[in-house]
Parts: sequence; structure tokens; C-alpha cells
Amino acid sequence: MLPVIALIGRPNVGKSTLFNRLTQTRDALVADYPGLTRDRQYGIGRLGDCAYIVVDTGGLSGADSGVEMLMERQVRQAIAEADHLVFLVDARDGCMSGDFAIAAELRRTGKPLTLAVNKIDGHDPHLICAEFHSLGVGDPHPIAANDGRGVLKLLDSLCAHW
Ligand code: GDP
Ligand code: MG
Repeated sequence: MLPVIALIGRPNVGKSTLFNRLTQTRDALVADYPGLTRDRQYGIGRLGDCAYIVVDTGGLSGADSGVEMLMERQVRQAIAEADHLVFLVDARDGCMSGDFAIAAELRRTGKPLTLAVNKIDGHDPHLICAEFHSLGVGDPHPIAANDGRGVLKLLDSLCAHW
């Protein structure tokens, strides 16, 4: 069984961009893989000897009604299926209150959790990452999903878990 990595974060932080980069496809589907539903966007990725399944999700916003709540149920199901959570935040926005809410929820899952700070292009990664330490979910990994910077390093640290 391949490990399942779920990409979690507020809307627009770059989850789908990272998904495409990790899978090097736009829409790779995992057919008939045990334990996974077809309701979410799955892809298979590989780094050296390390292969994995990635799950893209909609954003967690903290809404408690309507369409957004239904979407959030999907995200929670993706979290339940995952072996490892990648929590994505946005260097351009800085640390937002929604990020703290998500951090708290992800910590409660007890699942292995890696924080990735996306959109570091145009920023000093060290300065930017310092701010995100306050989320209390470990060392931030600086990345730029759109040009791939830092993504191999992020994967290396994920693959060290399995
Ligand atoms: P999602 O809602 O979390 O899935 O976010 P998307 O992947 O749809 O990306 C939201 C926006 O952020 C898009 O306009 C992307 O092109 C942009 N984006 C994603 N990654 C990066 C990055 O590393 N740097 C910059 N500057 N923009 C990015
Ligand atoms: Mg998306």
C-alpha cells in the first residue's frame, strides 16, 4: 500500500498547484485503490524510490453552514484517509486566524503533520518561515509550488516517515 498524503489549507494557498507538481499531472485518478473514495482528487507521485498517493482537497475556511460545510466534510474525510497531512499556508498572506484554527484541528487528529509555507518566491524564506513557527506545528518548509522550489526537500522529509 502506498502512503496517502493529504494537502490541507485555506482556499487559494496553492494546494492544487502543489498537487499538480507532486503528481506531474493535472488530474491523475487512482482507480480502485482500496480504502479511497472517488469523491476527491487523487494522484500518484514518485520521488526516487518513494512513491505515494496525494489527495487534493478544497479549502478549510471554518464555515459552519451550507455549501462550505459540505466541502469541509469532504476535507475531513480526506484527513481520515490520509497517513500524512501537509498543511499549506501562504507566505504572501502571512499567518492568518484561519491558519491557527486549522492548525488546532490538524493537531487533534494525531496524524503526522508537515507545515509547508508556499509562495516564497519574492520573499526571504527565513524571515517568512519564522512567522509561521507560532502555529505550533513544527518547522515550516518553504516552497514555491508554481516553480517547484523547495518541493523536493519537502518530499524528502515526508518520505523519511515511511
Ligand atoms: P488552492 O485553492 O489552495 O488549491 O490554490 P491554487 O493551487 O488554486 O492556487 C491559488 C493561486 O495561487 C493561483 O493563482 C496559483 O497560481 C497561485 N500560486 C500557487 N502556488 C504559488 C507559488 O508558489 N507562488 C505564487 N506566487 N503563486 C502561487
Ligand atoms: Mg484547489
